[in-house]
Amino acid sequence: MGANEITNSPTKRRQGNPPGGRNLLTKLIGTKQDWRIYRPVAPRLRPRRSWIGTTLVVSSTLIGWFAFTGAAGAGNVSFGLFVGAAAIQLMAWSFVLAVRNKWLEPLFGGLDSMYRVHRWCGSLAVAAMFLHTRIEPEIKNGVRGASRDLRDMAEDLAGLAETSLYALIGISLLRIIPYRFWRLTHKLLGIPFLFASAHFFTATKPYANGSPWGVWFGLFMVAGTVAYFWRVVVNDMIRRGARYRVASQRRVGNNTELRLEPMSRRRINHQVGQFAILRVQKRGLSEPHPFTIASHPDDDQLLFIIRDLGDWTDKVGAADLEGATVEIEGPFGRFEPFGEPDQPHLWIAGGVGITPFLGALPTDSRPSKVVPSVFYAVKSSDDAPGLDRLQRADEAGHIRLHLSDSSAGQRLTVDAVTNAVGIGGIDGAHVALCGPAGLVRQFQRGTRALGARSIEVEDFDFRQGFGPELSRDIDDLVTRSVTGASRG
Ligand SMILES: Cc1cc2nc3c(=O)[nH]c(=O)nc-3n(C[C@H](O)[C@H](O)[C@H](O)COP(=O)(O)OP(=O)(O)OC[C@H]3O[C@@H](n4cnc5c(N)ncnc54)[C@H](O)[C@@H]3O)c2cc1C
Repeated sequence: MGANEITNSPTKRRQGNPPGGRNLLTKLIGTKQDWRIYRPVAPRLRPRRSWIGTTLVVSSTLIGWFAFTGAAGAGNVSFGLFVGAAAIQLMAWSFVLAVRNKWLEPLFGGLDSMYRVHRWCGSLAVAAMFLHTRIEPEIKNGVRGASRDLRDMAEDLAGLAETSLYALIGISLLRIIPYRFWRLTHKLLGIPFLFASAHFFTATKPYANGSPWGVWFGLFMVAGTVAYFWRVVVNDMIRRGARYRVASQRRVGNNTELRLEPMSRRRINHQVGQFAILRVQKRGLSEPHPFTIASHPDDDQLLFIIRDLGDWTDKVGAADLEGATVEIEGPFGRFEPFGEPDQPHLWIAGGVGITPFLGALPTDSRPSKVVPSVFYAVKSSDDAPGLDRLQRADEAGHIRLHLSDSSAGQRLTVDAVTNAVGIGGIDGAHVALCGPAGLVRQFQRGTRALGARSIEVEDFDFRQGFGPELSRDIDDLVTRSVTGASRG
C-alpha cells in the first residue's frame, strides 16, 4: 500500500530564493511573501504551566510602576520614569532568556517560546525607551543616584545607548543582513544596556539606590549584565558541547542527512521533537546552528537532516563530513507530537519540517497507542527527506501517510485534510505542525476553528524579521571579492 496522495489545484507558493539571474535591486526588494506580516494567532485562554514565565516577565515589569507613583514634577513624570525603568527591566529579561537556560524552559514552554518572549522584550524595551526619551521626565525633590558629574556623564552615555539600540534592533528586523553578521551585531546589545543602566542608577529618582526599590531594580541590572556576559563569553566562547563524530553522510534531494555517534560517555539524552545546536568542527563550518533530532531517543546514533537553505547549509551539503567532529549543545525544545491517547492525531509538515515527526515514528518494536494521520507537503517526492521511513510506517499501519507533492499539482490545505480525515478527525484532535510560516498559520487557524483540542507548533526560525534572505548572494559576493571567483 502506498501513501495516500492529496489531489487538488497546483500552487505557486514561493519556496526559498529563486535561482540566480535576478538583478540586485529585485533581490533587495524581495517578494510580497518576504515582507508579509503574519497576524499572531492568539493563544487559547487555557492556563498552562508555560504561561508562568511570561506572567513573571509582565508582572515583574508592571510592578515597577509603584516605585514612581509618588514622583513630583511637571507633566507625566511618573509615567516617564516608569517606562525608563521598564526599558531596563525588559532588556534584562531579554538577556536572561537568551542564555538558553534549560531550567527556565518549562516555565516558558520551550526554547522557541523563550526566544519569542525574548524578541517581545527587546521590541517593547525599544518602545519604552522611546517614550521615556520623548517625555524627558524631570523629577522634583528626588534622590540623586550619584554625584552630579557622574549623573551627567551617564546621561550622555544614555543618549548613545538610545541611538545604538534603535540601530541594532533595526538590523535585527531586516533579514537582508545575513544571520552570521546579524549574530555579531546582536552581541553588541549589551553595550546600550550597560549605558542605560548606568544612567538609571545615577539618575534622580523618587527612592534611594539602597532602598527596597533600589535593590529591586538593581537586581534586574545585575541579572541582565551577568546574563549578557554569560551568553557572549561562556556560551559562545568557552562552553563546549558533547562531542560526536559523523558516522555517515547522505544526500536526499536538497538535504544532507548526518548520522552522528558519540565520541565519549557524554551524550545527548533527548525526547521526541527536541532539537540541538550543532557546531561542526571544520574550517568555515564552526558557526552554531539549530537542528531537530530526527532519530528516536532510543537509537544509538543521532540523525540530523539539514536542508540547503542558505550559505552555511549549502556549505554543509557540499562538504565531505564523514569522520568530522561535531559539538552538540542541548537538547532543547518542548514540541510534543503526541497528545492524549483518546485524541485523533494530525501531524502536518512542510518540507524539512518533517524532522520532529521522524524521531517520533512508531515502529514494530516501538508501537504507539495512536495512529497519527501524517500530512506531508513536499516540492517533489525526490526531495522529501524521510519519505522511505514514513512509507514503511504507513505500510506497517503505524501511521496514515498523506503525501502532497507540489510538482504533481497537489496542495496541502485545511480543506484537503478535512476531506481526508473528516470533521471527526479534527474535532478534539491533537494537531502538531512544523513547516513554512504560511502553512503553519493556515493550519493553526483552520484546525482550531474545526475544534482541534491541542495544537503544537515548532518554529524553525529564532530570528524572525522582514525582507528577503540574501545570505547566499552575500556569501557569493564575499567569496568573489576574496578569491576573484564565483561559487558558480
Ligand atoms: C528549533 C529549530 C529547529 C530546526 N530544525 C531544522 C531541521 O531539522 N532541518 C533543517 O534543515 N533546518 C532546521 N532549522 C533551520 C536551520 O537552523 C536553518 O535553516 C539554518 O540555520 C540556516 O542557516 P544558513 O546560514 O544556511 O541560512 P541563512 O540564509 O543564513 O538563514 C536562513 C534562516 O535560518 C535562520 N538561521 C540562520 N543561521 C542560524 C543560526 N545560526 N541559528 C539560528 N537560526 C539561524 C535565520 O533565521 C534565517 O532566517 C531549525 C531551526 C530551528 C530554530
